[in-house]
Amino acid sequence: MDDKSDSVIKDDNNEYEKICYMCRQPESSVGKMIKMTENMFICPNCMQRTFDLMNNSAGNNSMPFNLSNSGLNIENLLMPGFMGDFAGIPKSQRVKKAKPKAEKSENTENKEEVKNLDFRKLPPPHKIKEQLDEYVIGQDRAKKIISVAVYNHYKRVTKDAAGDIEIGKSNMLMIGPTGCGKTYLVQILAKLLNVPLAIADATSLTEAGYIGDDVESVLSKLLKAADNDVERAETGIVFIDEIDKIAKKKNVTNRDVSGESVQQGLLKLLEGADVEVPVGAMSKNAMVPMTTINTRNILFICGGAFPDLDEIIKKRLAKNTLIGFNSDLKDKFDNDPELLFKVTNEDLRDFGLIPEFIGRLPVVYALKGLDAEMLVKIMKEPKNAILKQYQKLLALDEVDLQFDDDALLVIAEKALEKKTGARGLRSIIEEFMLDIMYEIPKDSSIGRVFITKEYIEGKGGPRIVLRGQN
Ligand code: ADP
Repeated sequence: MDDKSDSVIKDDNNEYEKICYMCRQPESSVGKMIKMTENMFICPNCMQRTFDLMNNSAGNNSMPFNLSNSGLNIENLLMPGFMGDFAGIPKSQRVKKAKPKAEKSENTENKEEVKNLDFRKLPPPHKIKEQLDEYVIGQDRAKKIISVAVYNHYKRVTKDAAGDIEIGKSNMLMIGPTGCGKTYLVQILAKLLNVPLAIADATSLTEAGYIGDDVESVLSKLLKAADNDVERAETGIVFIDEIDKIAKKKNVTNRDVSGESVQQGLLKLLEGADVEVPVGAMSKNAMVPMTTINTRNILFICGGAFPDLDEIIKKRLAKNTLIGFNSDLKDKFDNDPELLFKVTNEDLRDFGLIPEFIGRLPVVYALKGLDAEMLVKIMKEPKNAILKQYQKLLALDEVDLQFDDDALLVIAEKALEKKTGARGLRSIIEEFMLDIMYEIPKDSSIGRVFITKEYIEGKGGPRIVLRGQN
């Protein structure tokens, strides 16, 4: 780099900020610069200060000069000859203009879109599902139900659909083991619909006045996700995870502040009400500004693993059969992978949800636990699948990364052992990919790497093919 090019930057170069020659502040913080020479700028403050100084030294009987009402074209006072061929401020002291943030512009676009939300522009359920299919593996029934519910919900939100007949809210309850895609489904959905999403954990909620977050905190989160735009927040989605943890506690003698009381507290939010919400904080206190959010058009989705709900369902099914709970039936229920699909409100009540709460979640459905085959698909197929990510990384080094099918099956089985659904996959894959990502770029003769079952099991290495070989 030669120094000359460092010192001479043309100030009409759009990439760099104009800097005030006097205070060295950039234009973005001090306002429109006044051009003195081709390469020299003064900010309005410094210019005014200079005139003030001149006024003072000229004595009190002179007219004070005020830059802003002087009538001068302050953007361009260009003084040819003055300061001669001043070269400008060196590059090393310059900052690049901040690029308009993609995120920011996206948000403004979103704002427009949601404000003008029109159900005719909303994709029909089958299109919503098609898009979900690109990311979420399996869970077909859940995707179908969610697509219809969301479609109806936003249809209801739009003014066109308002009339004499009030369409009920489509709040949902999602039941499924951990790591089967509940949160993921909601995240993808919010992205597709361009609406703000707040994810809250029911275990952190307590009745107002007790240690923990008030139920209103879920709306504060939503407001934050909507960039503090109340109108936008009012058409957003709130996902409350671990909802099974606020089931009514059995046999408690003291007040159930994190169970039944939280369900009670959530009722008005789910139903639709004007709620006072702290802005930028999780709890109300004197220092926090408040705003009002109407929850009528907010879509609430609750999710939970509901352990032992299957036992409750089995018991009910057995009771309803004439022959009672004989061993044949027990086997049938035990091996039914879709047992949770048979859940009813009665089962949920037995689990510990209060009837009013269940009543405000009209759409109830279950997601399947993931089996090895689905886990393999999750690794391979979604748009942003983890294997595709590694393949892309190595492709940048011109290395072709391949995974043997039996290797993927071993990874899936390892993940199943962890009992954390698809959540376990990433850590398992990262563990053995570390050496690959470290070693392979060392040797530029390597053209292709196959991850083998033996490598995953720690009994051998990956299969390597050198460039030019096949
Ligand atoms: P939970 O059901 O406990 O809310 P998550 O939705 O958080 O589980 O799933 C954890 C991660 O596993 C997700 O971020 C996603 O990457 C992956 N995952 C889970 N289920 C699926 C699925 N059906 N399809 C694709 N990816 C999935």
